Amino acid sequence: MGIAENIAQIREQITACCVRRQRDPASVRLVAVSKVKPAAMVEEAFLAGQTIFGESYVQEFGEKAAQVKQPVEWHFIGHLQSNKVKYLRGMVSLIHSVDRLSLAQEIDRQWGKDGKTANVLIQVNLGEEESKSGTTSQELVSLVGQVAQLEHVRIRGLMALPPWLEDPEEVRPYFRELRSLAQEIQSLKLPGVEMQELSMGMSHDFAVAIEEGATLVRIGTAIFGERHR
Ligand SMILES: *Cc1c(COP(=O)(O)O)cnc(C)c1O
Repeated sequence: MGIAENIAQIREQITACCVRRQRDPASVRLVAVSKVKPAAMVEEAFLAGQTIFGESYVQEFGEKAAQVKQPVEWHFIGHLQSNKVKYLRGMVSLIHSVDRLSLAQEIDRQWGKDGKTANVLIQVNLGEEESKSGTTSQELVSLVGQVAQLEHVRIRGLMALPPWLEDPEEVRPYFRELRSLAQEIQSLKLPGVEMQELSMGMSHDFAVAIEEGATLVRIGTAIFGERHR
């Protein structure tokens, strides 16, 4: 199947999940994860009505963004080194992967140069996996409190990349945990902190994520096919 058909099918599934859970389908945004895939595929997806694209590697992203001529909206979803933040300035509308104060401080510094405010999500490492970025659930509240003090950074919600489990039902508890962490933070009513966005769910488990409250689903393989590097 082609990219347009894949997107159409995913959109149908998103709508079906929302109907099942009595959610407004417009409350779930699809982030097409185009990492490793060429600019031409982004353009093809854009022509099929897809507007938000997620990238994970700063250098690859910069090269691709320069090639894509359409007005797409970029999100950064990958692990981010502080010294690379400058390349994202003015380029992305949301950074999903803020997991430490030093990174948030650098984002604050860079966005501040333009007098702008960066929208970010705090990434939580729910499975406490060594190989993955993200703050721990225990450190989350204190990190949110510190990041919230930064003038040019606004926290819009949380993101997680739970362990990969064959059966998406087994991922459900992780999605629930992320939602409950967001509710806990919301109840603290910290100034400058909103918990409107829950970025969770990928190609094989997005339906379950939506049932558990995802507002941003990050889907790569199911749109663009397998990645070979
Ligand atoms: C690659 C990636 C995805 C997309 O995964 P698929 O299984 O291809 O849909 C989603 N989120 C993050 C953070 C990623 O790095």
